[in-house]
Amino acid sequence: MEVKNNAVPKADRLMDLFSLKGKVVVITGASGPRGMGIEAARGCAEMGADIVITYASRREGAEKNVEQLQKEYGVRAKCYKCDVSQVKDVEDLVANVVKEFKKIDAFIANAGATAQGGVVDSSYDEWHRVIQTDLNGTAYCAKAVGAVFKEQGFGSFVITASMSGHIANYPQEQTSYNVAKAGCIHMARSLANEWRSFARVNSISPGYIDTGLSDFVDEKTQKLWHDMIPLGRDGQAKELKGAYVYLVSDASSYTTGADIVIDGGYTCR
Ligand code: NDP
Repeated sequence: MEVKNNAVPKADRLMDLFSLKGKVVVITGASGPRGMGIEAARGCAEMGADIVITYASRREGAEKNVEQLQKEYGVRAKCYKCDVSQVKDVEDLVANVVKEFKKIDAFIANAGATAQGGVVDSSYDEWHRVIQTDLNGTAYCAKAVGAVFKEQGFGSFVITASMSGHIANYPQEQTSYNVAKAGCIHMARSLANEWRSFARVNSISPGYIDTGLSDFVDEKTQKLWHDMIPLGRDGQAKELKGAYVYLVSDASSYTTGADIVIDGGYTCR
């Protein structure tokens, strides 16, 4: 099989390897003010990429983020509504971006929802909501953008998974979330093989990151977490943006099928 996307990059200087000038990067779930999505977008914009971000419910948040990206980094930026659990929304997103921006260099499947209870005490609807968003939604993104990557002959697909895909962390009851994120890590590995002739695929597994997603967790549980994290605190989303930029850029030209765990050491024991 001819492999089109395996060229050694021409650049040697580190800054050139990390440069994203002329690239178009799509990031789902970047409507929060301090989430991983907007930090990944800021990192990519800082390195010169044009940016597309998506929201599901927080339109104002996404519009504010777009304004900031344009103003602060001088790049082209746009937001679209996209519920990743709906195939049509995802297909429309990818078609609209290709129409407007002519190509997609990288797609960060970052949108995700948390579980609200254990298997016995919650409904089938709750199980389906989490799997539909976090696992199936990621697969819908892969299918839609994978076709574009195949046609172009290049692309980088990055999935925001979770350390919960590696360990069943205590004391939360979130089996649906753990299963979905484990599926995301293995989806990245499997796609890396499947797409070897035209795109690279990797995942990032964050630990406890202070983004607002876990605000509902009580102080006692937070303290328990911190005692179990070797670095002794939650991470901040900006502490992940370097990893997103790495996986999107030519600096990671020989990296595919990898999962980067960024969890303050939580899962290293
Ligand atoms: P945010 O709340 O900032 O981000 C979640 C994003 O997902 C929001 O933009 C939200 O959009 C979007 N979203 C939720 N449901 C859907 C849906 N059905 N379709 C499309 N978009 C949707 O929190 P985080 O930055 O923490 O989360 C980003 C990713 O990181 C998620 O995949 C999460 O599972 C993962 N993660 C987070 C960790 C943490 O500790 N924070 C740890 C490990 C992984 P909107 O607000 O517009 O509805």
